[in-house]
Amino acid sequence: MNVQCAICDQIEDIDVNSFQAKRLMNRRISSYLCNNCHDRIAEKTNKRHETGNFHLYSSKNKDKKQSKRQK
Ligand SMILES: [Zn+2]
Repeated sequence: MNVQCAICDQIEDIDVNSFQAKRLMNRRISSYLCNNCHDRIAEKTNKRHETGNFHLYSSKNKDKKQSKRQK
């Protein structure tokens, strides 16, 4: 079964019996992400979590006493 990645337009051949293929055929998900893009997004999400926390922490607590400092 050929599926096209929603981000990079790469076409991949996935196993019809795979979980992903079944979800696509049931239209529970409307777009497919190839492994590369999936990994890239997972990485970005993790990084955004880290930087997001850091940003919140450094900007909002600037003029407060840093009492909740960990370690
Ligand atoms: Zn892709």
